[in-house]
Amino acid sequence: MNIHEYQARELFQKFGVASPKGKAAFTPEEAEQAATSLGASQIVVKAQIHAGGRGKGTFDNGFKGGVHLCKTPAEARHLAEQMLGHALITHQTGPEGKLVSTLLVAEAVDIAKELYFAILFDRTTSAPMVIASTEGGMDIEAVAEHTPEKIIRVSVDPLIGLQPYQTRKIAAALGLRGSLMTQATKLFTALYRTYTETDCTLVEVNPLVVTPDNRLLALDAKFNFDDNALYRQPGVAALRDKSEEDPREVAASEFNLNYIGLDGNIACLVNGAGLAMATMDIIQHAGGKPANFLDVGGGATKEQVTAAFNIILGDKAVKGILVNIFGGIMDCDVIAHGIVDAAKETGLSLPLVVRLEGNNGPAGKKTLAESGLKLQSASTMADAADKIVASVHAA
Ligand code: ADP
Ligand code: MG
Repeated sequence: MNIHEYQARELFQKFGVASPKGKAAFTPEEAEQAATSLGASQIVVKAQIHAGGRGKGTFDNGFKGGVHLCKTPAEARHLAEQMLGHALITHQTGPEGKLVSTLLVAEAVDIAKELYFAILFDRTTSAPMVIASTEGGMDIEAVAEHTPEKIIRVSVDPLIGLQPYQTRKIAAALGLRGSLMTQATKLFTALYRTYTETDCTLVEVNPLVVTPDNRLLALDAKFNFDDNALYRQPGVAALRDKSEEDPREVAASEFNLNYIGLDGNIACLVNGAGLAMATMDIIQHAGGKPANFLDVGGGATKEQVTAAFNIILGDKAVKGILVNIFGGIMDCDVIAHGIVDAAKETGLSLPLVVRLEGNNGPAGKKTLAESGLKLQSASTMADAADKIVASVHAA
């Protein structure tokens, strides 16, 4: 799960990460009021979307840039009028862009140096890793590709946490000395606490800036939280903005289904993540393209199967469905009844291929055969993939 920058700022305040003052605004009037109440001589108005590269983005009305500096509340209002209600297109949003319905109005600071600082979960070492660079503000991927020596990496032992000698080492590598090193130690430690105590998988500050009067401040914030830990982070879960997410994935999460939308046209409904991956592979192998990854889990109920069909049918790109179930713990006949009911309830008219194998398989096949539904049974995965690809091509 991701959050907006204005929400990230609230977490920064809670954990003591230094950042400029700011307020969220949902209308041009609120942007003007926020700018007035900040009482700053320089103001920045920032579009809030779950994507980076906003500074260099363009709005669908032709307005350039999702991050703007201005001096007066009236100017902040004028900027807000051109940004709110429009989609912002950046290199991370795709061509349709993302609708901007919130702005962050913050105090603008003078910048002497832009740095990069992030903490992320490193799967190779199974431990948190700090990544920092003197080349902040820009595309860190480009820095990593062209000048990898400018990226500092420090692995953190999760049992003892980020140690003072490590924060000093990172600060020194970033050229932060004297009072800046003291501030860096405080800021890095606070960010590490934010990372662990809110169950993040990523906290990225780009840029982390040094001001001409030697203050160290986090100007931008990107957070990524571990979805599997949200149950114990109600405060974080409350920050979720469903309008930023794929509506199909939101619906799936409400029924505890593991769903990821893809861009093909053959929908898959499978039990077990490994089987779901193998099913996607075999569809590709047979010359088709999967429309989704969908794992209904080891013990799916009839309600979940119906919800899964509804999500699949809500996707206009879907031209055929492949159900691939291996009954281990699951009873194939229960799934068969689920499929029949769901197909009838949703008025399914697309080609449907079902492969049921395992626990109580023959009873499941019988249920499907006697249902009167227009479906094709398949005996092996290869057979199932060939049948659905052929049906979709013929349709
Ligand atoms: P994005 O990464 O989505 O482009 P940022 O928040 O990093 O958005 O903003 C882009 C640039 O705008 C920053 O690199 C910085 O130069 C400038 N900027 C952002 N916030 C402020 C601020 N509070 N004061 C001054 N400049 C800012
Ligand atoms: Mg940034």
